Amino acid sequence: MSNFNSMKKIINQFLSKVSARNQNEPEFMQAVTEVAENVIPYIVKKDIYYGQNILLRMVEPERVTSFRVAWIDDKEEIQVNRGYRVQMNSAIGPYKGGLRFHPSVNLSILKFLAFEQIFKNSLTTLPMGGGKGGSDFNPKGKSDTEVMRFCQSFMSELFRHIGPNNDVPAGDIGVGAREIGYLFGQYKRLRNEFTGVLTGKGISWGGSLIRPEATGYGVVYFTVQMLNHIGESIKGKSVVISGSGNVAQFAAEKCIQLGAKVLSLSDSSGYIYDSDGLNEEKLDYIKLLKNINRARISEFIKKYPKTTYSPNSKPWNIPCSIALPCATQNELLLEDAKLLKKNNCICVGEGANMPTTPEAVEYFKLNSILFAPGKASNAGGVAVSGLEMAQNSLRYNWSREEVDSRLKNIMSEIHHSCLKYGTEKTEVDYVKGANIAGFVKVADAMLAQGVV
Ligand code: NDP
Repeated sequence: MSNFNSMKKIINQFLSKVSARNQNEPEFMQAVTEVAENVIPYIVKKDIYYGQNILLRMVEPERVTSFRVAWIDDKEEIQVNRGYRVQMNSAIGPYKGGLRFHPSVNLSILKFLAFEQIFKNSLTTLPMGGGKGGSDFNPKGKSDTEVMRFCQSFMSELFRHIGPNNDVPAGDIGVGAREIGYLFGQYKRLRNEFTGVLTGKGISWGGSLIRPEATGYGVVYFTVQMLNHIGESIKGKSVVISGSGNVAQFAAEKCIQLGAKVLSLSDSSGYIYDSDGLNEEKLDYIKLLKNINRARISEFIKKYPKTTYSPNSKPWNIPCSIALPCATQNELLLEDAKLLKKNNCICVGEGANMPTTPEAVEYFKLNSILFAPGKASNAGGVAVSGLEMAQNSLRYNWSREEVDSRLKNIMSEIHHSCLKYGTEKTEVDYVKGANIAGFVKVADAMLAQGVV
């Protein structure tokens, strides 16, 4: 049997074992498969890791909590949702990872996100383990008081399982500044202590400057690093972005600041296309629509009629040099990747977690299109969450410039780690680089801590 075939056999045996134990969890298996394909060939060559079943230990969450969240809506009817916290790995620090409120939330999605978070957090250079949580609650269309009642009920159970030294959640889809406020208020009331138990807090009550911007800015800093590495620059390049939430808004803002032309943003109903490119004034209007009015992005064209709106479609057919998928998992498929290539796209940076399907990732690789996986390119959010934790412990706030400069350095360190483990002849496999670099630090800590 050739080396390639025997390696394939080892990987398949591992995946069969994991899949037998995690049936009906397609997103989780998708994330595990990608990591296994990169990391197992590395483990096999390293005596210290070989035979330790380290990856098998990493795919098993340390703890999974699922709980009832009952609350009363504005019509005084009782509603019931399901809440979760997946505490995946604490080898290098307290569990850290966001909470997602979206009707699609289930254990498969949270386990995939928590698993990715292990590697992402390790890449940041900061001491944070991996976790993720959330609920199938849909904040869309709910009043502020309904969201508050839900958050209070959710935290009334979650508070037993988290704390500033063991598990520090943050936001994710459907959990922004408003939800973090309600969650923090309820935690503080139940515990009677003011601690850094959540990140993404408001500036006047323990938050960090640049945290709202961090994921989107970080994606663009990483994209700039990738472009610079091949002698290109972002200035003047056209950029297509999906999503119009936290990550998409600040990715667009940084692109505009650096002189790129942002052609689109989207939401789950459709996308807008602005051939002149969005500017700061238009972006402010998007922020107003999405964050304050909680409206659909289609409203944008009423104020800016030169822009077009395409319902029920994604923006990947717009010719561009750079694509930044910043909405949700599996939103960029093989056919979208082919369209991007046809239109001369040279670089894709994931702002969302796993937005690109494995077939599309493979297509980018085969066609030499620069591709950054979210665990590397969107790590800026959790990195600044780590900086928020550090500031909470110091009981001191750093300036905007200080945090932004630390964020830039961290993104540059992550890029460097990807080059170290992912450079193949003249090209860089950023997926492989991120997976192996993220793995090494956690695996070493697990080895040192024994079989636990
Ligand atoms: P938000 O809730 O702020 O925004 C999500 C955006 O994605 C909205 O525009 C939403 O549209 C769109 N969207 C959500 N679900 C779908 C779907 N099924 N199909 C199409 N569009 C969809 O979330 P964030 O910006 O915080 O998160 C976006 C992505 O980035 C997620 O994958 C998240 O895990 C990842 N991420 C976020 C970090 C953060 O710091 N916030 C950190 C690292 C990663 P609509 O309004 O119609 O629902």
